[in-house]
Amino acid sequence: MSLFHDWTDRLTLFADGHEISADERADLARRNVPVVDGRISEIAHVEGRLSSVNLDTGRAVAVDVLFARPRNRPSANLHEALGLEVVDTPVGIALKVDDRRETSVKGIYAAGDLANPMASVTLASSHGAMAAIFAQQSMLV
Ligand SMILES: Cc1cc2nc3c(=O)[nH]c(=O)nc-3n(C[C@H](O)[C@H](O)[C@H](O)COP(=O)(O)OP(=O)(O)OC[C@H]3O[C@@H](n4cnc5c(N)ncnc54)[C@H](O)[C@@H]3O)c2cc1C
Repeated sequence: MSLFHDWTDRLTLFADGHEISADERADLARRNVPVVDGRISEIAHVEGRLSSVNLDTGRAVAVDVLFARPRNRPSANLHEALGLEVVDTPVGIALKVDDRRETSVKGIYAAGDLANPMASVTLASSHGAMAAIFAQQSMLV
């Protein structure tokens, strides 16, 4: 889903194929936020500036600003090769880890965006330190 704001307090929500419940639609309508259905086929630009969101319905909606929330997905398949379990989160796939950052396979620890749906440098760094500490501990006991 993407949100557009044209700086005149007019927001438009592009559903981009996602289901939006009747309650959510009613809430958006109450806030004067129109919902545009259909999948986004193109984000068009003119001379490097955003111009419109084009939909598979043939409709083109002029926009000035676009806020998008893409889903996370791993850029490599090492986790698949290792048989690590994943969980599906609202923002994409994440490796399943416990409080010690250990994955579903004993002795394999994970940190960073791949193992945390709340992408953040601070969390990636913190979880990386935890994963290293617990991995080291597992080799000592
Ligand atoms: C546009 C944007 C803005 C952001 N702004 C903020 C912010 O303001 N504050 C904040 O805290 N967080 C921000 N984040 C999130 C933050 O960047 C991530 O949470 C953090 O970088 C995650 O670290 P990571 O080490 O898990 O992954 P990454 O930083 O993505 O590092 C993964 C590394 O692995 C490499 N790699 C991938 N596949 C392979 C392969 N097959 N072989 C070898 N290397 C490979 C990649 O090239 C990359 O260098 C932002 C993210 C984005 C995309």
